[in-house]
Formats: sequence, C-alpha cells, structure tokens
Amino acid sequence: MKKLNRKEFQDKLRQARKITVLTGAGVSAESGVPTFRDAGGLWRRYKATDLASPEAWQRDPGLVWEFYNHRRAVAHTCKPNEGHLALARLEARFREAGRTFTLITQNVDGLHEAAGSERVVRLHGSLWQVRCLQCAEVTWNHTVPITPAFEGSGSPDPEFVARRFETTDLPQCHCGGVIRPHIVWFGERLSRADLDAAEEAVDGCDLMLVIGTSAVVYPAAGYVPIARRLGAVVAEVNVEPSAVNNECSAFFKGKAGEVLPSLLGVRLA
Ligand SMILES: [Zn+2]
Repeated sequence: MKKLNRKEFQDKLRQARKITVLTGAGVSAESGVPTFRDAGGLWRRYKATDLASPEAWQRDPGLVWEFYNHRRAVAHTCKPNEGHLALARLEARFREAGRTFTLITQNVDGLHEAAGSERVVRLHGSLWQVRCLQCAEVTWNHTVPITPAFEGSGSPDPEFVARRFETTDLPQCHCGGVIRPHIVWFGERLSRADLDAAEEAVDGCDLMLVIGTSAVVYPAAGYVPIARRLGAVVAEVNVEPSAVNNECSAFFKGKAGEVLPSLLGVRLA
C-alpha cells in the first residue's frame, strides 16, 4: 500500500470526525517508565508471572503489593512527555469542535491522564486504581506508599531482605475488604466494559493513530485490521515499523515526543 505523506495525512486529520488512538509502552518509555519486563527483571529476579497473576496473589499478596508499591513509586516520579501532551491537546480541540476522540492505551502508568487526556480506555487497568475483593468497588488511589506498612519496601535490589507482610498489613477498603491493584494480570480477562468501549471507539472511526506499540498483543493487535476494513486511515508512529505496518496508510518514524507535537498541531477543518 502506498503510504500517505505528512501533508496528505494532516489533511485527513483536519477532516476527521472520529479519531481513535492506540498507545503502548513506547510512549511511556520516553518518560522513563520501565517496561513491565524491565521492572519485573530488576525486581529481585522474579518472573513477571510470579508477581502479576492470580496464583501469585494467592501465594503471597504482600509480595504482590510490594511489587506494585514499587512500580507506583517509580511511576510517581515520571512526568508526561511531549507525546502525551500533544495527544491531550488534540483531544481538547476535537472536543471543542464537537468531534469524537478516544484514546485506548495498554499503559497502566496514568501519564495520559496526567497530561490531560479525558476519554481514556485502559485496556490493562491502572497502577492508580484499586479494587476491593469484597465489595468489588474500583477507586482511584494515588497514595505512595500504598499503606504505611509498605514504607521503604519494594527495593528491586536482589540483596534486599524483604519482610513478610501479614494480611493485616494489606491495604483495605472502607468496607473492611482487602484491595488489590486494578490491573489485568496474566491469566485474567480484560474487562467487558473496557472491551466494549474500545470496540465502540474503533467502530466507525475515520482515523486511527497507532503509537509506540508493537501491536502484537490482542485485542489491540486486532483493532488495526478492523479499522482498515471499515475504511479508516490508520497511521503509525513508532521508532521501528510494527507488525501491523503494512496495514497502515501512513508511517512516521520516530519517538512520539518528537513526532507528535508538530504532526498533530494542525487546525481542524
Ligand atoms: Zn470494599
């Protein structure tokens, strides 16, 4: 497929009525957020599945919370980059123009929200949301450390002598139940509500932007061919072409923070 050039893409962007953006770890990496694998690799050499799965939680919820407490502490120090900010500005312009903008992200670090993005579908949950195992309530929680008991815990140093956490140390809901990270763990299903919101955003969008994701993980990987089939212009912004590049109508090589501000900074038609 012949790719659109920059000006041709921007003409499509100016005229778009419904835009859907799909972002992945590449956008966060520019803000210094370690990828999950990096965090897991450093994190005392546990396998990711030993920290982020229902089995891990069953075995040792204190260890799981220690890991997430560490990830929250790291993410807490990271700031949105120019890529996050350019997307939030584009959303604001679309909203003012009465058009539809939805951002679907595989990231859990909250940087899109921190940049000002409002309509965000978090496919994999959020580091900043927790869920009660008793009453099932999902709430925002930005407290670092998650409870005083976790103060100073979570060092990724393999030599660090971890303390064993008791059930009474675990963070609690106002109902008295134990709360867990509202994150989709290995072996868990994505939430139906989030999938519905994502599918609704993909259905009938006239422009899709795929940014900083290898687009090999479903369901996100499936959204590009669906959007294409429905006639959308799909543009990829990545440091390297992803697995879906040959399905994309345009490709802009580079980091989101460097490419997006000028690429998206157009006046809407
Ligand atoms: Zn509760």
